[in-house]
Amino acid sequence: MKNIYFDNSATTKLDEEVLKEMMPYLTEDYGNASSIYRLGRESRKAIEEAREKIAKAINCEPNEIYFTSGGSEADNTIIRGVAYQYKNKGNHIITSQIEHPAVLETCKQLEKEGFEVSYIGVDEKGRVKLEELQNAIKPETILITIMFTNNEIGTIQPIAEIGKIAKEHQIIFHTDSVQAVGTLDIDVEKMNIDSLSMSAHKFYGPKGIGALYVRKGVLFQKFMNGGHQERNRRAGTENTAAIVGMGKAIELAYEQAEDHRNKLSKLRDYYISQIQEKIPYIKINGDPENGLPGLSNISFRFIEGEGILLNLDLKGICASSGSACTSGSLDPSHVLLAIGLPHEIAHGSIRISIGKYNTKEEVDYLIEQLVEIVGRLRAMSPLYEEFVKKDIKIF
Ligand SMILES: *Cc1c(COP(=O)(O)O)cnc(C)c1O
Repeated sequence: MKNIYFDNSATTKLDEEVLKEMMPYLTEDYGNASSIYRLGRESRKAIEEAREKIAKAINCEPNEIYFTSGGSEADNTIIRGVAYQYKNKGNHIITSQIEHPAVLETCKQLEKEGFEVSYIGVDEKGRVKLEELQNAIKPETILITIMFTNNEIGTIQPIAEIGKIAKEHQIIFHTDSVQAVGTLDIDVEKMNIDSLSMSAHKFYGPKGIGALYVRKGVLFQKFMNGGHQERNRRAGTENTAAIVGMGKAIELAYEQAEDHRNKLSKLRDYYISQIQEKIPYIKINGDPENGLPGLSNISFRFIEGEGILLNLDLKGICASSGSACTSGSLDPSHVLLAIGLPHEIAHGSIRISIGKYNTKEEVDYLIEQLVEIVGRLRAMSPLYEEFVKKDIKIF
């Protein structure tokens, strides 16, 4: 059966044009970028060209970009690196309750090591409470780390405002931008961003490659020891092919960004309006109007998200209950709890993330299948039966 893929926030399909650009570096041009002969210099040149493309996309200097193995490594590197570097200045970090585990787990680890972390709450749409953030700042605060866009509900944070607050207090500001890069316009100068993480496989590039931007002057302790690669901050022979792919992917993404956003928003809005029309007792989570185009998170009352997903899978449809990183866990999503959903409603939620290869026909098929699956699961649900009985009593 053909896969109908609606999990583009988990990962995306490699663009054919990106693969084409990568191929020479997987075959003939295999030189080590640190070697002095021509074959090595070719790799070095390709890496530096990719670095320039990435820097241009977010408006920073190429020498402020460090290649990593992905978003998780970039987040770990800067949060730990800044904490250790500046621990004599202060031991306090501010983050939010809805971060990706790459940030949350790193902060929890630092708490065990004696750092203090404030986890700022969000409103019912998933926006970080700015007043709470302001009030959490103290003389010991060395880092604010707030994601650009949430990966489960798509809410876009007021990044420029947070950047301004951080700058006023001379606190380093990092943003996990893995969901935003390639789709949203980002300008680290205008937004006062000191550090930012991204990952190529979220914008039709290869897996296992990402980048960390760090503003000149912001110091961080490295955690990978070895060779002198990446200006001595990240040891290990460069993954030339993946880096080249990432450069091509980001270039393509920003050439197409506006069309891409329009297409995705249109399909997402169509999906949401059809579900609203055809399925009762649902809740739209996040803030679709001001959220990541293409992403929707809907709670279907009285049933389990896992049940919906298994049934969608039988029909060849790939979707998820929030984040690939929490699947397999029975706990409801920390993001849905943070926006105030009760456990039983959070459990009945699924995320549909539409990407550039999806068509309206696929969305229609998804809607048709969801109507059937939700109806069938509800018919078997004791919770629903009880609810319907109560309803009848009322009238
Ligand atoms: C996917 C994702 C990550 C992790 O990136 P990897 O490249 O898979 O390590 C981090 N943060 C967010 C918001 C993500 O969506």
